[in-house]
Amino acid sequence: MPLDAEDMIDQGLVAPERIDEIRRVARQYSVAMTKDMTGLIDTADPNDPIAAQFVPNGTELVTTAEELADPIGDDRWSPVPGIVHRYPDRLLLKPTLLCPVYCRFCFRREAVGKTPAMLQPEALARAYDYIRQRPEIWEVIVTGGDPFILGARRLADIVQTLDAIPHLGVIRFHTRVPIVDPARVTAWLVAALSAEKALWVVVHANHPRELTTAAKEAVARLVRAGIPVLSQTVLLRGINDDTAVLETLFRGLVAMRVKPYYLHHADLARGTAHFRIGIASGQRLVAGLRGGVSGLCQPTYVLDIPGGYGKVPIAPNAIRADEHVDGWIVKDSTGVEHAYPPDPNS
Ligand code: SF4
Repeated sequence: MPLDAEDMIDQGLVAPERIDEIRRVARQYSVAMTKDMTGLIDTADPNDPIAAQFVPNGTELVTTAEELADPIGDDRWSPVPGIVHRYPDRLLLKPTLLCPVYCRFCFRREAVGKTPAMLQPEALARAYDYIRQRPEIWEVIVTGGDPFILGARRLADIVQTLDAIPHLGVIRFHTRVPIVDPARVTAWLVAALSAEKALWVVVHANHPRELTTAAKEAVARLVRAGIPVLSQTVLLRGINDDTAVLETLFRGLVAMRVKPYYLHHADLARGTAHFRIGIASGQRLVAGLRGGVSGLCQPTYVLDIPGGYGKVPIAPNAIRADEHVDGWIVKDSTGVEHAYPPDPNS
């Protein structure tokens, strides 16, 4: 069983003077942490990067003017329950709102862990019909919540139903389970993911300490089954806003055969201002990675435009046109600028 707020208090993960505020946070937002993550916490460190992700903080009770209940506009793009259809060729399918942990910075924190936590069979059937009726849908991203919290039989049903829709090319799962609750990645779960279509898994990891032996073995079970694995990371103040930490995390993931896919600028979810760094700081961190690690270890730094206008890359641009020269100015990884000739065919 994961720990709830009272378990965290009982285990001494919360300073006595913070207990009341933590209880107030738990009345507003879901709280859970797996034993795997609890075991990684250094209780002597008041700024422990694992505790900061899962143990509630009274600051969450403060909402700033720019923060939103639905920061990336899921509701605006939800034509039927369980579906978010923001882009023409792909959509999200959310069969559950449950997660093994509740990340304090989650962009869906107003929804995750709340009831009804499961998409009911009739709603799931309507969601499948929505996909079947739209031949332009090429990719379904199964997310939530965390779909890997479902039993193997339920997962297999989802995979087989999507696999049977002729116009789909890709089934993608977004999950934190292999990292935070690796024992759930059983042989049955892996077998449930067996599909004729390309099935990809995207795991979520934010700090190198999360890449435990058990997490590595869970990911290896997916990889050995022929499933390509990517990762996403949220850029978080005090947790991974440090080039060396990001470098270690991304190298660790690549060594696990996981390609870092997205580095997310933290969304404007309510009560999460203490996790956000400025975009300029994020760009400096990403620029710092550019020279230091192989391209394999470099995710795309992205921002979800508040209100549901989609994801855009926001890494610093290494090239610019210059009105004083004919051609381009391009900056190398040390910051030195070089001229690049104009296109002879333009
Ligand atoms: S696992 Fe994902 S969906 Fe669940 S709380 Fe964390 S960030 Fe949110």
